[in-house]
Parts: sequence; C-alpha cells; structure tokens
Amino acid sequence: MIDFTAVGAEAVDLLRAYLTIDTTNPPGNEIAGARFLADVLARAGIESRTVESAPGRANLVARVRGDGSLGAVVLHHHIDVVYADRRFWTVDPFGGEVRDGFLYGRGAVDMKSTGILQLAALLALARAGVRLKRDLIFLATADEEAGSAFGAQFIAANHPDWLAGAEYALTELGGIEIDPDKRAPFAHIVISEKTGLPLCLTARDTPGHGSMPWPDTAPHRLIRALARLLAAERPPRVLPEVQEYFRALARVLPPAAGRGLDDLATALHDPAFRARFFARRDWAAMVRTTFAVNMLRASQKLNVIPPEAVADIDCRVLAGDDPGEVRDWVTRVVADDHVQVEFAREPKVPNLSPPDTEMYKALADTLARRAPGVVVAPEILVAFTDSWVFRRMGLAAYGWSPFVLDDEEWRRVHGNDERISLENLREGARAYTELLLQIAGA
Ligand SMILES: [Zn+2]
Repeated sequence: MIDFTAVGAEAVDLLRAYLTIDTTNPPGNEIAGARFLADVLARAGIESRTVESAPGRANLVARVRGDGSLGAVVLHHHIDVVYADRRFWTVDPFGGEVRDGFLYGRGAVDMKSTGILQLAALLALARAGVRLKRDLIFLATADEEAGSAFGAQFIAANHPDWLAGAEYALTELGGIEIDPDKRAPFAHIVISEKTGLPLCLTARDTPGHGSMPWPDTAPHRLIRALARLLAAERPPRVLPEVQEYFRALARVLPPAAGRGLDDLATALHDPAFRARFFARRDWAAMVRTTFAVNMLRASQKLNVIPPEAVADIDCRVLAGDDPGEVRDWVTRVVADDHVQVEFAREPKVPNLSPPDTEMYKALADTLARRAPGVVVAPEILVAFTDSWVFRRMGLAAYGWSPFVLDDEEWRRVHGNDERISLENLREGARAYTELLLQIAGA
C-alpha cells in the first residue's frame, strides 16, 4: 500500500531542498544537483550513475528494474535553470521559501518540480516493493536551457545505453490550464515540437561609393528579397494532430470563439476566418513553418556600399516539412540569383510521437483524475525541448505534467517569483505515482 499523503509531503520537502541548489545555466554546475539526487536515491537503496560532459556539467541516471516484459519508461528532467535577477524577486530565488501555500524558487515550475514528482513516485514504488512490467529510468540532464549540448544530446551521442530498451520518455511542459474564458479545464500533452532551422540570406553585388547608388546594390537586393519573403504566404498545413488540438479547444471555448476550429482545413479557405485565425500568432505558428527576420548586417560605414548584405532568419519548421524543401521554397520566393539562401547550421528534422499509444492514454486518464471534466488535447509545441532528442533515438516522447496552472503562474516561468502551489506538489506526486502504477505496474 502506498501512503499518498506521505508521498506528497516528501515531494514538498525534496523540492524545497532541490530549489536551494543554484544550477543557473550558465554556468550550470549541475553536479551539485546531481549529488543531491544521487544521495536521495541512495538512501532509498537505488543506485545511480553520474557522468560529467564537461567539468561541473553532470548528467545522472538510475534504473529501477521491472520484469522486462514491456519497454522501459524514461522519467526525464533537466537539472539546470535560467538566470534569476534577484532585484525583481520578492524572495530569494534559491531560498526554498514557502509563503501562502506556494513554494518559491527558480525551477519551481521549469522544471525541478517535475523531476521531484518523478523522484517521489519512484521512491514510493520502490519502497512499497511494487512489481513492475517496465524498467523505470530516472534521467536528469544538464544544459537544456542552453541547447542541451552538455545534456540530452551528450547522452544520446555518448551513453545511449542509459536508455537501452526504452519505449517512452516523459519530460517537461504539458499540464492543465485554468482559464476563466474556458468552459472546462483544458490540458495539453506535448507530442511534437517545431525545430529551429536558422537560414542565412546573403546578397552580393559590386561595392561602390554611397554618393552614387544604383538599384541593385547588395543591401537593396537583400531588402527586396526579404520583402518578397514576408509577402509570400506559405500555405498552411493542418496536421491531423493539430486538427485534434483545435477540435478539443473548440469544446472548451465559448461557441462563438470556437467556430470553425472543428474543421480547420475547410475554415481556412474563408478569408475572414483566415485573417482572424492568423491574427493569433500562437495559432498561426501551429499550422505552418514560420520566418522571423531577426538579424541584419551590411556596411560598416555610411558612405560605403558594401559588396555583401546578410540577413539571419529564425525559421521554425512544422512536423512534416522537409528542411531542404523549405530552403528551396525560400530560394524560389526570393527569386534573385544574387541572393544565396543557406542553412546557418545543420538542420534538425522535426519529429512527432503519436497520440494513440498506451502511454498517451494513461497520461490522459491521469489528467482526468486530477481535474474532473478536463478536455485533453495533443499539442505541437512552437518552442523546443529535449523531447526531440529522445524521439530521434526511437522513443515516443511526451511533454507532460499533472500541474494545474493559470496564466499568472506561467508568466513567472523564466520571469520573477516563479512558484508552485503545495497543492500542485502533493496532488501531482499522487498523480505521477498513479500514472506509473497504471503504465508499469505488474
Ligand atoms: Zn525547462
């Protein structure tokens, strides 16, 4: 028997302690967090292994064995957190302070809390001697907040054996959203994410004196190329999973606000609907590959017409789009053979985990227990997480948490006074434990 009250209380104590460890990235110093986790695991008789990808940049793994009849589940979190500017916090961001039912600290939502729920659930199962069908792999990595080179990507390249036999990975984001404008709680499970495809546009022509310009200087060519790119509308593409997201959303929005979302591909043919839909930039990003012109450079001097002008574009690719096809599309749209379009770095092909697996169902069931009446939707995240790395290794990876959060709490993530309610921690620890019992219990 598992005493869920004790599991919840332990989650609160563990997170308080974990939040006092400063793992701000840079520099990360994840080793301090890894030592804490290793110590907690050891006290419960669970062996772990820590490997540094660079001095202080630690990654930790622990495996609790099942009977091996089904694939293993990776419980992943990143140890690092983003910078906290103490001047704007009302508490010490590394003080582990509890006030009015909330635990404050950098990492309280993103994402030491999720790591602690996983840990508390694992400890509860191990102590209760629960027999498992699946191995449970507790994985804590470095460097997610700066691109994962020292974390998930390092593990994928150097220690893929840590994830041997794994079928699923659970990691950050997802969760239940409380919004007074919605008719029911709305939850997302992240199944895919857009990948960054930085594009570099370089215009070249003869240099000259600024006193005698002509139409086709390199900067003029670049400006016209960018204007054509911004004016060109890349056709939207509604993936079946995205349609499912909007169908679920239509069920919780007021009827007028949800109109058309049930059959998005058709509704997008209507110019009025299309304009309304694309005015929501978060929605627009879910149905197409996007281009943000963020960096421009040309001459170093006002009176010099330079031989070269360069624009760096933050392009984000939707699952199903091919990076090579995107580059060729941009080249066609730009339509100037003096403007070269290149990948600024090796492209990452977006990937997606299906929303019809046993795990997805278990995640949705757990959310329904946590928030009765909740409407659950698969989400394609417009930002990037470590899930991409796990999917590339052949796992189905989901961004999932049993937290119930409103907008106010989300604004504090990467912002000031980040916090999590004790209720979320206690109930979240119960939910995570029940999830593992459902998916891995023998
Ligand atoms: Zn995170």
